[in-house]
Amino acid sequence: MQSGTGMDLAPKLRSRSCPYGAAVVLLALAPGACDLGPAPVASPPPAGPFVSGTPVFEANGWIEYIPGDAPLIVIAPHGGGLAPFRLRKRKCEACFGGIDSHTMDLARLVADSFATRTGHRPHLVLNLLHRSRFDANRGMLEATARNQVLEPTWRWLHASIDTAKAAAIRQAGRGLVIDLHGHAHAIDRVEVGYLLAAQTFRQSDDAIIAEAPGLGSSISAIAANSRTGESFAAMHNGPNSMGGLLSAAGLPAVPSPGDRAPKPADEYFTGAYNTERHGSAKGGPMDAMQLEMPVDVIGDKPENLQRAAGIVATALAAFLERHYGWR
Ligand SMILES: [Zn+2]
Repeated sequence: MQSGTGMDLAPKLRSRSCPYGAAVVLLALAPGACDLGPAPVASPPPAGPFVSGTPVFEANGWIEYIPGDAPLIVIAPHGGGLAPFRLRKRKCEACFGGIDSHTMDLARLVADSFATRTGHRPHLVLNLLHRSRFDANRGMLEATARNQVLEPTWRWLHASIDTAKAAAIRQAGRGLVIDLHGHAHAIDRVEVGYLLAAQTFRQSDDAIIAEAPGLGSSISAIAANSRTGESFAAMHNGPNSMGGLLSAAGLPAVPSPGDRAPKPADEYFTGAYNTERHGSAKGGPMDAMQLEMPVDVIGDKPENLQRAAGIVATALAAFLERHYGWR
């Protein structure tokens, strides 16, 4: 979820049970009465050697990177629940603190399901902090709300993604980054974001293709060089697009052949910081897209979360095979 259009849908997890304010100081003076937890420490960049499936943690334990062995990186920036007392709530004009319920569990299940299908694991990068403390899909100042304690954490987050991207490029020469979110919009469908406005997709394919060079799609690299030779428009809305593959596997998605574009009154997330920074909108061999999952559909029962993970994994495996030639 990108902005204040939804509610905080998750139980508010707290790492300590102490109240805020001056009372904390007084309580803290009483031995054993109140544990503020360890002071945050600076985080050196993730260091190898990396072993597929073995997690590596940022120094405070706030970001988890699980290396993989496929040219695929899944980020869950808004699914965390940790809210250490030493981290104040983010306060800034555009700050939004609601989390995307179930998306961290979904990311882990997608990785397991993908591994079952292909024999290889995606890289996972998980923000374990509650979004009220740290927004892992924003530039540094907004992500941290200028809390300098969090700046090394922000750098570690992106260093781990860069580490995973470098591994993908060594392995396959290119690859895909998925920024995984959850939305509570009125229409229960996956919103696939490529940094392109809904209006772009409401045009004919010919018009989309004519505009392509200046659009800055986050999958510009593969859209210009897919093994299938499909058009720029079809790479975003055709049967072999991510939306097309998700829909065919059982989760309605937009854009896709059956739902080409959000209508003018529809809510639709186009993608944000991670999709722009880690995809090919400004060049490079790594593509990115934002998947906004309908939280009512994925999270109302554990079996539905498992089903959604299987569908996403199936679509990702098909996308990598058809367009990148990876299997
Ligand atoms: Zn989100």
